[in-house]
Amino acid sequence: MTSLAPVTPDVTAGDADVAAGLPRERGGWWHDLVCPTHGTELSHAGIPGPVPPAGGVRCPHGCVVDTEPVRGAWLVLSHQAWARRARVLAHRAARTGDEATRTEAVALLVAYADVYSQVAGAGEHERAQDWMLRGRLFHQALTDAIWAVSIGHAVWALAEADPERADDLTPVLGMLDATAEAARAARGRLVADGKFTSNYTAWLNAAGRVCGRAAALVRGEGAAPAVADDEWLAGEHGQLAHVLAASTRGGWEWEASTYYHGFVVRAYLLSLRGTDPAALPAEARDRLVAMIEVLAGLATDGGVLPSVHDGPYSRPALALEWTELAALADGFVADAGLAAVAAHARSEAAAGDGDDEPADGLEDELRRTAWFAGPPLAVARAPRPAVSVDEEVGIAVLRGAGIHAVLDHGPHGAGHGHHDKLALALFGRSTPWQPDPGQVPYGHPAWRAHYASADAHPVVRVDDADPAEATGRLLARTERSLTVEVRGDATAWHDGARAVRHVVLGDGYLLDVAHARADRPRRLVLGLRPDVPLAVRLDGDVVRTTWRGAEALDGVHAARAAGPDGALPVRAVVLPGPGPADDPQRERAHVDWAAEGATSATWVSVYQADAQARDGGADVTRVELAAAEVRVHRADGAVDVHPLPAALTEETA
Ligand SMILES: [Zn+2]
Ligand SMILES: [Zn+2]
Repeated sequence: MTSLAPVTPDVTAGDADVAAGLPRERGGWWHDLVCPTHGTELSHAGIPGPVPPAGGVRCPHGCVVDTEPVRGAWLVLSHQAWARRARVLAHRAARTGDEATRTEAVALLVAYADVYSQVAGAGEHERAQDWMLRGRLFHQALTDAIWAVSIGHAVWALAEADPERADDLTPVLGMLDATAEAARAARGRLVADGKFTSNYTAWLNAAGRVCGRAAALVRGEGAAPAVADDEWLAGEHGQLAHVLAASTRGGWEWEASTYYHGFVVRAYLLSLRGTDPAALPAEARDRLVAMIEVLAGLATDGGVLPSVHDGPYSRPALALEWTELAALADGFVADAGLAAVAAHARSEAAAGDGDDEPADGLEDELRRTAWFAGPPLAVARAPRPAVSVDEEVGIAVLRGAGIHAVLDHGPHGAGHGHHDKLALALFGRSTPWQPDPGQVPYGHPAWRAHYASADAHPVVRVDDADPAEATGRLLARTERSLTVEVRGDATAWHDGARAVRHVVLGDGYLLDVAHARADRPRRLVLGLRPDVPLAVRLDGDVVRTTWRGAEALDGVHAARAAGPDGALPVRAVVLPGPGPADDPQRERAHVDWAAEGATSATWVSVYQADAQARDGGADVTRVELAAAEVRVHRADGAVDVHPLPAALTEETA
């Protein structure tokens, strides 16, 4: 560690403090900032700073970890935090004209250029893993690009606000040119490998465009080229082409990951600084509006974004990314619909360990900056339907009766997919009754495998094995219901098995009917996977569940199963299991509702939020599963009869 003593670079004496805080070695891979024992992200204490804490980085469960990968990961986050600080200072100086703030921002950037030439000048990082697209300052070129976007925007803000003194920033030109060149080379490798739609491309384009524009401003090269003449935006592999290639017609990022969806949208909006939204090519512009709307439509009324596929479940540093995205989106499209997301994210960021960079003012600066050259787009929006589906990614959202449900049924999602076929996530306004559990930092292979598994998700399982990757399909939809299916064969899901899920927004409740069928006797299981305290009680021929979060949810459940010799019991077994991925040590009551040796099973659940949240409707007292219908009994004596779709009753496996 002694070799890491800060070295004062050749800047004026008054700036030495700024320079002394900068890390003077390259970063690694941030996903390694995870406790090998507990699977929990390690502390951000000391960030931004020059070196990781002496002795190691703390785990919330008491470990102190001091390994090369953890140190490298800590350095990534420190470098990123320094770049972010430069950006906040630069935006603030540009807005206020405050001289001291400008001086600090310039000194930080100039010092960073010196660090960059010393530690990244030797070329690509030799310790990157084989699968990585190598970076210079970090293991991954992607990380270099994210860092460079912050640095580039800082320079852009300062040079644009005070062109007369842009010469002050001449020392950063080498760093900007090098990062733009590296971004172009990395993009070329992706394209050559047939991976243009990778989420990396969005950040490489953003880095190229932002650093290129910042350098031009420092050089006094005048007005930006028109969008059509800007290769990073309108080129064959530029941002506008990527927007269209990497998303569905409905606006979902193709991997159907909430995290990577936000990740690319943020990169797009960051790269479009200084453009007029109304003047962008219509198709890409409209798609970008749709991508923003996807987030608004996925979020609960309380602003929780369900973490579909890979991505953190809850993470203060990610919350800051959502607040940044919301600020940029509001500049792009009027009433972007992300106010609740931003408010929830602010509270989540503030609840971090306090050593991070919450409330550093970046969101505020972005909201006060004229990010785009024209006003936000005015878009006419239809009222949000109770049931919405993107059939290409197979993500459906159902809203009603105080319940926000996400039914995930489409393609696997490539490397960021989970074995979550037909998963039904359940939220209140802001209570994660049964969320998708998200993902741990990727540097923990065992927990990463768990959170991608079927066992971690509220799905139908067959013989407790993980299925093969599979694509489900939408069988039917109405204004208030959905029926989705996955069929197994030799290469997909479970050979010889199929499952169907039929979800209905009833009068004051949500009805969930899951059905599985197999060509030979197998263990068929439906999992319940809460992130709230869950009480389970057997009551005659039904099971009753009470989900106790900030908002309450009651469930009434019934099931039936059959094997070659007739009817079989279906037992709801409660067992302690790990909660979502933000802390695998948080224990939750899992329910495995299983039939052994079965060739068919049907599980019926009626979920009801409390009377105030669901806006009326008599209490559900009982649920009854008949041959071809479900009967929901109400406290006022009424019985709602729901016929089952043929897909849940037909005999074929
Ligand atoms: Zn630990
Ligand atoms: Zn998942």
